[in-house]
Amino acid sequence: MPNALTNLLGMNKQALEVFLASIGEKPFRAVQLLKWMHQQGETDFDAMTNISKPLREKLKQVAQIRPPVIRDTFAAQDGCYKWIVEVESGSGVEMVYIPEAGRGTLCISSQAGCSLDCSFCATGKQGFNSDLTSAEIIGQLWLANRELGGFGNPSSGKAARPVSNVVMMGMGEPLLNFDNVLTAVGLMMDDICYGLSKRRVTISTSGVVPAIRRLHEYTDASLALSLHAPNDELRSQIVPINRKYPIAELLASVKGYMDTLRDSRVVTIEYILISGVNDHRQHARELAELLRDMPCKINLIPFNPYEGSDYHRSSNSAISTFRKMLQEAGYTVTIRTTRGDEIGAACGQLVGQVDDRTLRSARHLAQRAKLADGEAVQPVRVMRGQP
Ligand code: SAH
Ligand code: SF4
Repeated sequence: MPNALTNLLGMNKQALEVFLASIGEKPFRAVQLLKWMHQQGETDFDAMTNISKPLREKLKQVAQIRPPVIRDTFAAQDGCYKWIVEVESGSGVEMVYIPEAGRGTLCISSQAGCSLDCSFCATGKQGFNSDLTSAEIIGQLWLANRELGGFGNPSSGKAARPVSNVVMMGMGEPLLNFDNVLTAVGLMMDDICYGLSKRRVTISTSGVVPAIRRLHEYTDASLALSLHAPNDELRSQIVPINRKYPIAELLASVKGYMDTLRDSRVVTIEYILISGVNDHRQHARELAELLRDMPCKINLIPFNPYEGSDYHRSSNSAISTFRKMLQEAGYTVTIRTTRGDEIGAACGQLVGQVDDRTLRSARHLAQRAKLADGEAVQPVRVMRGQP
């Protein structure tokens, strides 16, 4: 049964002010509530000592601070964590924590499943179930702080927090859940909540052009573009949204966003390397040419295999040749190292437990069965890490 109490966790200052006005309360309470929720990690109104007892009682009647629930925790040898987080639609989505020297990156999901069906992505293969609410998106950062001991006295400052960076590179296409993602991103960057700098919050998109065009009206967070191919013919095959918004339009919209930032930040171009598909020398040459006018850095992501995929990771020599060619053309190039592999936490391996509404996962199964041409076909198992 749907919960009748209003969940305050995903509300920003304006939404809380509207809510408070609706129960006859003063707007300044919004800041108090935000600090309790996002600096202290408090969910119990009774613990909010600077709020009068009658107001606490009133809040308990109509509202709740309701983070999503962790269904499973996986810890890897290298310090990475993967959590399966249960959302109200009933699906499980995944978030991943990656500690590195001097920083801790949290990779969070924006949707349960994804409707875009990129050919190399495990999430896409599952189809789509639901958009996450703003409470479920900010709730992932909230949960990671709770699990990793990041909440405490506000005067201890955000420096002590374990999550210094958030990337929206988990399950789903953030810009297809625009309002909820942008509300949550606002909370991440708000000084009275998590206070993450705009350089440390990154929205990754496969190229939803109309949303990129209006992004600057809502945020100045960092942007990553999942390009993955240097020409329309190939990109349309592996990133199907390209058929709707081709590369020239896409790059123009990204350039437009970067121009509004008025600082030295550049867009991160993500380029997955799949053996024999997009990793030839000619692709590197084309990519170097394509990005000539784009202030960017390039992040090469060796394909991470998952059960049910026919693609293979590029060889080490193909990866280093690709990188070298781009570097020689003047680009800053990084190669994403795989972390948390043994718990299925690497890019593109995130599958959670999505109750598909699009029947795509069933279609993929049927297709594989046909390809196997009468042979006994193993069902594509939902891939899970070992605890
Ligand atoms: N939908 C958004 C954000 C989530 S995907 C987007 O596509 O950008 C996050 C990143 O993981 C993307 O760059 C995506 O292309 C990459 N990825 C997906 N499947 C992968 C796989 N099997 N191996 C390596 N990276 C993958
Ligand atoms: Fe969706 Fe991103 Fe996966 Fe493509 S790569 S299917 S856009 S989650």
